[in-house]
Amino acid sequence: MDKALSLYLHIPFCVRKCAYCDFLSFPADDAVKERYTDKLAEELRLSAASYRECRVRSVFFGGGTPSVLKEGALPFLMGVLREYYDLDDDAEISAEANPGTITEEKLRLWRQTGINRLSLGCQSLKDEELALLGRIHRNADLYRSFEAARGAGFENINVDLMSALPGQDCASYLFSLSGVLKLRPEHISAYSLIIEEGTPFYERYHKADEKRLRGEEQSLLPDEEAERDMLYEGRRLLRDAGYHQYELSNYALEDRECRHNRVYWERGDYAGFGLGAASCVDERRWKNTSELKEYLETGAVEKLRREEEALSIDEARSEAMFLGLRLTEGIDEKAYRERYGIFPEELWGEWIGKMLKEGLLERKETFLRLTERGQDLANHVMAGFV
Ligand code: SF4
Repeated sequence: MDKALSLYLHIPFCVRKCAYCDFLSFPADDAVKERYTDKLAEELRLSAASYRECRVRSVFFGGGTPSVLKEGALPFLMGVLREYYDLDDDAEISAEANPGTITEEKLRLWRQTGINRLSLGCQSLKDEELALLGRIHRNADLYRSFEAARGAGFENINVDLMSALPGQDCASYLFSLSGVLKLRPEHISAYSLIIEEGTPFYERYHKADEKRLRGEEQSLLPDEEAERDMLYEGRRLLRDAGYHQYELSNYALEDRECRHNRVYWERGDYAGFGLGAASCVDERRWKNTSELKEYLETGAVEKLRREEEALSIDEARSEAMFLGLRLTEGIDEKAYRERYGIFPEELWGEWIGKMLKEGLLERKETFLRLTERGQDLANHVMAGFV
């Protein structure tokens, strides 16, 4: 029984929808949340037989906002997990929470039940930026939540921060980052805002940006230079504070990298449960239905699956490149050869040569990795491996 597996549980509920969000999340009443929790438990029970030979290394309650569920919901799901799955004694068990939806009591219960990592959606410490993003919390809520989490015994906390917000400049981004650093979380995810189609932000900013490109209007979004400044200055501040960057957008104190997320970048096996949750096990990939009614009313777990496919070796090799290069250590070419039967050089020799020459990739011992400049142009580099 030694096949490693990670589990993802999707909680699709939020107090209200943020203006930039295209995740599978929405508000719902208590009755729906309870029905959903029961259904998720049923899905876990019915799926357990398929993973009997697996050892669970990590669990991630993501969303949405898992913390909008009543305080007993996650402990109840943890009970089901313990009963039906073989959880490692030292499994990393994370839950996402948003300031404004947690109390020390709820967090204490979570902690007692074995949840040992908390991920707080902070995004900014400037109230005007939080209001613009449509977040429900304000600066003071983050401090309160962080204190409550420490009070409840959480010794492994991630804080999410966003840059490249409309109207944001480097100084305002660094204000938020410095404030978060003072709290000394074990992990910081520092993402740039991406304007996704179908969101209110897309209507507001993408169209305005198109007009700017035509010279008709000033952009509301930071320009490339300002974005780069935020990235570089942010990186410098994080490093000076003792955080090491281990992935394009992720920084951690020693031994505090997110084990669950590493599984995605290293192409380990993961099983997703809940609405729209994705799984990839033994090179087979699928997603659960994204329709709530269908999810709640479908009995057999196999019937929830959509877009199920077996990955070809070419797809797996290609995916291993563009996911693996997200890690700052890069790809161990020797290990790659052992797993995929071929060196990356044999498949993409020309592209790798070009990227090395342009200073976007570099080799260190057996590893091929992005350079710092390559990180800025990661999409361009990755495109060569698709
Ligand atoms: S809290 Fe997160 S998941 Fe929920 S609407 Fe806002 S960005 Fe989306």
